[in-house]
Amino acid sequence: MLRIESEAEQAFRREVRDWYAAELPEELRDLTFRPEPARALGWYRRLSQRGWIAPHWPKTFGGMGASPVEQVILMEEAARIGAPELPTQGLNQIGPILQRFGTPEQQARHLPAILNGDVIWCQGYSEPGAGSDLASLRTRGRVEDDEIVVTGHKIWTTWGHHADWIYALVRTNETLPRRQGITFLLIDLTSPGITRRPIRTLADENEFCEVFFDEVRVPRANVVGPLDGGWSIVTALLDEERIQLGAPSHALRALERVRRMARALGPALGEAGHLMVAEAEMEVAALTAAFLQILTGVASGKAGDPSGLKILSTETTQRVLDIAQELAGSAASLKLPEQVAGAVIDFSELFLQSRRLSIYGGTNEIQRGLIADRVLKLPKGKRP
Ligand SMILES: Cc1cc2nc3c(=O)[nH]c(=O)nc-3n(C[C@H](O)[C@H](O)[C@H](O)COP(=O)(O)OP(=O)(O)OC[C@H]3O[C@@H](n4cnc5c(N)ncnc54)[C@H](O)[C@@H]3O)c2cc1C
Repeated sequence: MLRIESEAEQAFRREVRDWYAAELPEELRDLTFRPEPARALGWYRRLSQRGWIAPHWPKTFGGMGASPVEQVILMEEAARIGAPELPTQGLNQIGPILQRFGTPEQQARHLPAILNGDVIWCQGYSEPGAGSDLASLRTRGRVEDDEIVVTGHKIWTTWGHHADWIYALVRTNETLPRRQGITFLLIDLTSPGITRRPIRTLADENEFCEVFFDEVRVPRANVVGPLDGGWSIVTALLDEERIQLGAPSHALRALERVRRMARALGPALGEAGHLMVAEAEMEVAALTAAFLQILTGVASGKAGDPSGLKILSTETTQRVLDIAQELAGSAASLKLPEQVAGAVIDFSELFLQSRRLSIYGGTNEIQRGLIADRVLKLPKGKRP
């Protein structure tokens, strides 16, 4: 940590550190994967009861209204103690969107359930033929009186097989231009007509799944924003998601691995190893500074560049894990955690997990295209 903190911030850091040390169960520390709901939700609820599950939500919606520095302190202390990754789609994506665009009824029904850990959400955007080109989605929603009848197929749905609700994009009007006939819907995953099929990842985990909808009846009261007018919500949600993906939380966890590895290697680290560790420290400090700058800007009403932050954050994590791989040498090929000079170190799994960071939330190539368009205002190239 290369920042200077005020006395109040230092006191908050001590409070967080002590509380985490006392409360986080040993069996949830230093996992490289996200624990399944039965294991994760107890810790989620402890954080919620402490008031720290939604640092970035305003107090009016039950959040902590934390300053950017307090948010980063929570991330740094979580990484330091090896706290697990939790389900975040409710907290980081649909929660903030309902705060901005939801009806009072939707807010009252869904926001407390997200905060309490009673409901897990997933995101139904991508389809087999609609990833980067999201507007080409084909899942249909037929409007029938007070219901929308949904038929189609979503894919790469993170935690879809563990989730209770999905927010999904459906095409409700075939006659309008592509982006104008899409509706943003909240769907209860226990509704009849839904089938889920898990997909295994490169890291050998069940992190996501396919979701099939066959004539699923959804109340019209579950539409967020106007019917056929979901595209502005899609883009607002993606911007929100990219700021959260730009947070240094993954990079901090990766850095913690590098630090532990350095401690375990001791004098065997050598000069080249010291330089690599220093590089990892500097990269993560730079990312944290960029994240703080964007959050501070957003808090004072300035639009940030979420695409640039998403690229910086995901590529920093990948570079720091590349450093961990180099330090590990031939041990990097080991699949299971190893004892190294008294420390348990997982050499390969985090590295495998990190490959996906530059794909989800919109690939980094797409983010570079957005920067060319939105930030640099470069002439448009050929579009598919
Ligand atoms: C771990 C993980 C979790 C995910 N979770 C979810 C989820 O919960 N919900 C959900 O809806 N989706 C999810 N996704 C899907 C993700 O959003 C898509 O994979 C992503 O948007 C890319 O779409 P695609 O896979 O269809 O690739 P494609 O769009 O087919 O792209 C293939 C390649 O071509 C490149 N490319 C495409 N178009 C352009 C262009 N115009 N300019 C330059 N390069 C281009 C892409 O960058 C990529 O490298 C997840 C993906 C992963 C890996």
